[in-house]
Amino acid sequence: MASIFTKIIQREIPAHIVAEDDQFLAFLDINPLVKGHCLVVPKQEVDYIFDLDDQTLAALHIFSKKVAKAIEKTVPCLRIGTAVVGLEVPHAHLHLVPLNNMDDINFSRPKLNPTLQELTGLAQAIKENI
Ligand code: AMP
Repeated sequence: MASIFTKIIQREIPAHIVAEDDQFLAFLDINPLVKGHCLVVPKQEVDYIFDLDDQTLAALHIFSKKVAKAIEKTVPCLRIGTAVVGLEVPHAHLHLVPLNNMDDINFSRPKLNPTLQELTGLAQAIKENI
C-alpha cells in the first residue's frame, strides 16, 4: 500500500506544498512542533532514510537547503534544525524545524494544530521565498 507521503506526492490527498522538483517534495508538517516545521521527502518510496542510494541521500540534503533558507526568511528563528525520525510514517523524510531554543525540536512535547487557513498562508509565504 502506498505511504501517506506517496499519496501526497501523487496528489491523492492534500498537503501544503512549499517546493517540488522531479525527485523531492517539501510540505508543511500538519502537526508541527513549531510554526514553519516542514518535511522533505524523496518521491521514491523508501522507508528508511539510510537505505536511500548515496546520490538520492545527498540530493535530499541539497534540496532541503533551499527549503531551509526559505523557511528562515519567513519564520523568525535562530536557525533551522534537521531531524530524521520516521517512527510514524514509513517513507523517508527530513524534518526541517525553525529553532529558537533546544525545546523547539523536542519531539516528545505536544504538537501544534494550526488551522487550514494558517497552513495555507504560511505555505504560500515560504513558497514566495524559495
Ligand atoms: P515521523 O515518521 O516520526 O518522522 O513523523 C511523521 C511526521 O509526519 C509527523 O510530524 C506528522 O505530524 C507528519 N504527518 C503525518 N501525516 C501528515 C500529512 N498528511 N501531512 C503533513 N504531515 C504529516
